[in-house]
Parts: sequence; C-alpha cells; structure tokens
Amino acid sequence: MVTVMCFPRLVLMIALLAAGAPMLRAATPASRASVPADTVVALTGATLIDGTGREPIPNATVLMQGGKISCAGRCQLPAGARRIDVRGKYIIPGLVDAHVHYSQTGWADGRPDALDVRERFPYDSTIATLNAHPERFYRSYLCSGVTATFDVGGYPWTWDLRERAENSTAAPHIAAAGPLLSTRDHWVNLPAERQFLHMAGDSATRAGARMITSRKSDAVKVWYLVGAATPDTAGWKARLRVAAEEARRARIPLIVHATSLWAAKDALRAGARLLVHSVEDQPVDPEFLQLARTAGAFYNPTLTVREGYVQLRERRFNPRGVPLQCVDPATRARAFLTDSLPPPPGSGDAVAYRARIAEGYQLMLANLKRVHGAGIPVAMGTDAGNPLTLHGPAVYREMAAMVEAGLSPMEVLVASTRNSARAMGRQDIGTVETGKIADLVVLNRSPLADIGNVGTIEWVVRGGRVWTRRELEYR
Ligand SMILES: [Zn+2]
Repeated sequence: MVTVMCFPRLVLMIALLAAGAPMLRAATPASRASVPADTVVALTGATLIDGTGREPIPNATVLMQGGKISCAGRCQLPAGARRIDVRGKYIIPGLVDAHVHYSQTGWADGRPDALDVRERFPYDSTIATLNAHPERFYRSYLCSGVTATFDVGGYPWTWDLRERAENSTAAPHIAAAGPLLSTRDHWVNLPAERQFLHMAGDSATRAGARMITSRKSDAVKVWYLVGAATPDTAGWKARLRVAAEEARRARIPLIVHATSLWAAKDALRAGARLLVHSVEDQPVDPEFLQLARTAGAFYNPTLTVREGYVQLRERRFNPRGVPLQCVDPATRARAFLTDSLPPPPGSGDAVAYRARIAEGYQLMLANLKRVHGAGIPVAMGTDAGNPLTLHGPAVYREMAAMVEAGLSPMEVLVASTRNSARAMGRQDIGTVETGKIADLVVLNRSPLADIGNVGTIEWVVRGGRVWTRRELEYR
C-alpha cells in the first residue's frame, strides 16, 4: 500500500520536527494516557501571562507533572522531560466562567418563559437530555479555552455533575449552587423537580436553604427580584437574611441575583459574596462600593447575556465571533432555527427592545468601570445557557465587552481566570503558578494586544492533559 503525502503537509511536518514541536496530528487520547504520570511535560519558549496580573514573562517554561504545575516562569528542564516547543505563542490560565447554567440549553427550548417552543420541543425531554448529556457542553467549554465553570442555579442534578467533572480531563471543573431560592414563585420547573424554590415565608426560605446546604452545595443562591410586583419589602429583606444565615451556618457563600441598586445593596448588607449581575438601573454610588468592600464581594457583570435575548426577539441568530466548531451540532441547529421562528407579535417590538437593552448596556459598562476602579474584584461570567448565550464560546463576547467598558485586556484576563476561580471558591486553579492544577491554554496571538486573541487557541491543557484545539472541535 502506498501512502501519498501531499507536499505542503510534508514541508509543515519537517518544519515542526526541526523546531522540536510535537506533531500537529495529535497523539490519540489513548497514547497520551499512556504517558507515565510521573513524566514531566515542559512547555518551553512561550510568553507566560500567568493570571495574577504580573508582567508577562517572555521565553518562559511551564513544567507539568501528575496533573499539576511543578514550575512556571524560569525553570530548569529536568532530564527526561517531554518537551513541547511553544516559541512565539502565549500561555494563559484556563478561562473560568463564573456564571453558567447546565440546566439551560443556550436556546429558547430551555427557557420557555422567554419564548415558548414547548409544543415542538417539550420542556421535560429538553431537561432530561441536558441531565443525560452534559458532556457536549464540557467539550464546548474546553474547545473555547474554558477549564472551570460555576453553575449558579439549576436542577438538583447539577450538584451531581461536580465529582465526575473534577476527576475528568475531558470536562471543566464544576461548582454548583443547585436550586435557586426565589422571591417569585417561578413556573419553569418540572413536575417532579424544582429549580426555583419560592421564598413564601421565613420558614419556607429556611427549609429551602437547609435542603440546599444539606447537599454540600457550593453556594446558596437567591433570585432577589423585588419591586412593584412584590411590595412586601421588609418581608423580603428578612427572608434574604434567613438565606444568608443558613449559608453562613454551612460556611458557603451567598450568591444574589439583584439588578437594581437598592436590591444589590440589600444583598451586600446580608453578606452576599457574589453578585451575579450588573447593577443596571442607575450608577453605583459610594455606599454601594463601601458595602461591596465590607462584604468582600465579587462583582460578576454579565454584560452580554441580553444580546442573546435581543437576537431571539429579532428572530436572527448572529454567529459573528462565535467559533461554531466549538458548538455541538444539536445546539448549533437550534441556534440557526431562530431565524425561521414565527415573527414576534407587534412589528416595532424587537426594535424597541433592542433600544432599551442598548441603553441599559451603556450603564452596565459604566458601572463595571466604577466597580473595578474602586478595587472590587470583578469575576467574568456569561450566564451561558440562556437563549443564544452559548456554553463555551459565550466567553469571547463577554470578555470583549469588558474591554469595551474600559478594562485593559490584562485586567479582563485576571477577572476571567484568577478572580473567577476565587469567586467559585477555588484557590487551586485560575493561575499558572507552581502547585496549581495544570489547566492552561496556549494561544497563537497575544491576548494583551487584542482580547479577541483568546480565541486563537492551539492547545488546551486540563489537569495536565494536552488537547489540540482540533481534537475538541465538533466537525
Ligand atoms: Zn444566571
């Protein structure tokens, strides 16, 4: 049998071998798994941006052994190390998306309250599929350079995802908050299972919080949607404090969804450690900043999730900037189905909605800049799973928006790695430093020159296992 190798491919292979680079035709997972656990893998020659905010280190070496980083920066190459030459490239920590929902699909079928497509896509079977096949999103995350995710609200089965994902080099780390305590008796539940627990009174709130803490949850999450429709303000504040008390008792953080300035202040007074959305109704003020400092809270702005709702309302999925090869075929097909949905009632509806969202967006950008300028730690999170905020690639839109708000690419990288890891309660990931879990991404172009270059992924390393981007793509 004659193997024909076309000329350009042959030249490329010779060039790679001469440069000491590994074959781009990647080793199979089986052969890679056969590398002994004590073998040191050395990435040499790249510029290291370690996630701490420190100056990049040119011509750095990163040593990995047994799934951990054993040295980063200036390191001696030990004898017998398996060297991968990454000259001219950039190493960053694996990205951490601190706000996702595995109980949501990334399209309308997972959010019938946004657009009801249940007749065609029954909600119970949609959720059953999510539960049975979270691995399609795991791959989307790794393909997008995301090696850890914080699920901040969903069905109880989201707790069960954590252990297997933690021990897999084919999945991002997962922390999960489980069902949400909600000021609204939200109807998007399953007959046999709830993702929203109504805070109907103090005792119902306490019972809900105790159920959550008894499941070794990573947080207690409250949907604090108070306003004209829920006028019992003193009552809601008291129930928020009950949730906070139970979280404290279990030594886990309180997470609060609060989008108005006064509700966010309530959350901070109760001791919230993570605000999972921007303040979007008015500029944040000195009192808010002081409360955030006192609470030691992280601010997760989710600047771009509404864009997905706008596209759904306009019946036009805009794939610009989305690496569709990182999106599983079923999700991709649903996203493109958006364009064929019946138009919304009222012709001016979508136009008015976009204008309203655009206005709020500018305020969110300004608030992010103020919060960041005041030294409050910012954690990147996308709210992935919401309609057209796709698991994995959503990080690119969000990180670009953070730069648009006035943060430097370096500040956005720190927010998207170290800070997001801390927001999900992890000190052992989020930076490329000695002793951390070996989760990192090798980029072809500098993310400091343009944050969009976080998409120029060559390799993704999860727990020391090296994946080529191509291996992680859906073809
Ligand atoms: Zn969310």
